[in-house]
Amino acid sequence: MTLREEVAIRKTFAIISHPDAGKTTLTEKLLLFGGAIREAGTVKGKKSGKFATSDWMDVEKERGISVTSSVMQFDYDHYKINILDTPGHEDFSEDTYRTLMAVDSAVMVIDAAKGIEPQTLKLFKVCKMRGIPIFTFINKLDRVGKEPFELLEEIEKTLEIETYPMNWPIGMGQSFFGIIDRKQRTIEPFRDEDNLLHLTDEYQLTESHPIESDSAFEAAIEELMLVDEAGESFDEDKLLKGDLTPVFFGSALANFGVRNFLNAYVDFAPMPGGRLTEEGDVIEPFEPDFSGFIFKIQANMNPAHRDRIAFMRIVSGAFERGMDVTLTRTGKKLKISRSTSFMADDTQTVNHAVSGDIIGLYDSGNYQIGDTLVGSSQKFSFEKLPQFTPELFMKVSAKNVMKQKHFHKGIEQLVQEGAIQLYRTLYTNQIILGAVGQLQFEVFEHRMNNEYNVDVIMEPVGKKIARWIENEEDIRDVMNSSRSILVDDRFGNKVFLFENEFATRWFEDKFPDIKLYSLL
Ligand code: GDP
Repeated sequence: MTLREEVAIRKTFAIISHPDAGKTTLTEKLLLFGGAIREAGTVKGKKSGKFATSDWMDVEKERGISVTSSVMQFDYDHYKINILDTPGHEDFSEDTYRTLMAVDSAVMVIDAAKGIEPQTLKLFKVCKMRGIPIFTFINKLDRVGKEPFELLEEIEKTLEIETYPMNWPIGMGQSFFGIIDRKQRTIEPFRDEDNLLHLTDEYQLTESHPIESDSAFEAAIEELMLVDEAGESFDEDKLLKGDLTPVFFGSALANFGVRNFLNAYVDFAPMPGGRLTEEGDVIEPFEPDFSGFIFKIQANMNPAHRDRIAFMRIVSGAFERGMDVTLTRTGKKLKISRSTSFMADDTQTVNHAVSGDIIGLYDSGNYQIGDTLVGSSQKFSFEKLPQFTPELFMKVSAKNVMKQKHFHKGIEQLVQEGAIQLYRTLYTNQIILGAVGQLQFEVFEHRMNNEYNVDVIMEPVGKKIARWIENEEDIRDVMNSSRSILVDDRFGNKVFLFENEFATRWFEDKFPDIKLYSLL
């Protein structure tokens, strides 16, 4: 196969959702279609305990997350599909956001009973900012949930994106009879057969419907007519720009509506896209020279070896194991001999990968998040990854004052690497760490301990609303209050950490001349 052919069959996406919406279940079913796993229930170590032997970082082990579940590749039809997981709950971190920088599309899973939940919203915003296509799977139709129209309206209002239902559910919960495919005009009757891999019993929608005198069916037909009459067309351009999301109804647990979804996904999801360099040039996926960037670093798996794993998205050309690459930040030449790809229950050495693929590079400390690797003499750096607004803050100091040097070195390196964000109070120079998820603090503490041999004292400052300031020169002493802390970020920019929304609004009302803004 030529490089062009290989790249053209790739699709790389992230699944975004709020915890418990069914992301893991849907992932398992998708992998099942690809034949990547033999049984469901093997994706998350938490559930199957299958990863007990993996020696990735202790914190992750305790939490039952496995690195192997964060990137998975499977074949479907003639496509090669890369799924990137976005961890949730306390495992939420800046890495979760950065993962979204490495994909070309996203799949949003929504629990039909709950609608849009906070974490879905956060992740969605990042996808929207990138302008990537977002596919919506409304899950758990086998249970009673919100009405389809209500869900669509909620998506449109809350997320400010047009919706286009690709199928329409007939009933829900106990009376869930199936889905009507809008384009084909076929009905797929609901079956709860979990591992079923093929569609059966699909039949054409006719006036005299097959489910005898059922009111749910009649209601569905009526609703479908309303949807059709509303007349919004399926605009592929809008989908590709992230302005319209195709919506699918189904039940991941029952493996119902999943194949329908997957077929549409491979039809409409884009192949790997190019990426901008810092100079504003586009590096296209078909360019023969290899390039890629690091978007995530999985740290310190086993204290006995210092190895870390750096996740790289390939942007152009082909990667071959053993190849020489240049790390453009330092100009250092590296030979990549240890590289892995990820399967649901295994990591495998990868010898060959192309644009759109994600591979793991064993790292003894060479890489930082955002680093560019190039294979040719042509040296460039990809656009910087965005910085995200932290929500959680923690004061930190060294337990042993004699360890100040190690303490500062550790912080400097971890901050540079992108593991955590650094702030300092204005006059007292107290170090405050910022994170988007609690896990980042735990990883920080663990790594300070293990890698820098420093015990740290962590004092929660709690949740804060961080706002940067456009016109710093106008800040005056009177603006200090007990409801906000003024800090410097690591680049010396001033940031207010407000106690809550109320304190933020109070400040904005009182000092309208100060222009506040947040990062992503
Ligand atoms: P995640 O946290 O988003 O990865 O969610 P999981 O996939 O772990 O699912 C959370 C819970 O919802 C589990 O108990 C699943 O069995 C259940 N679940 C997932 N999909 C469905 C579904 O389609 N119907 C029902 N009734 N339950 C589901």
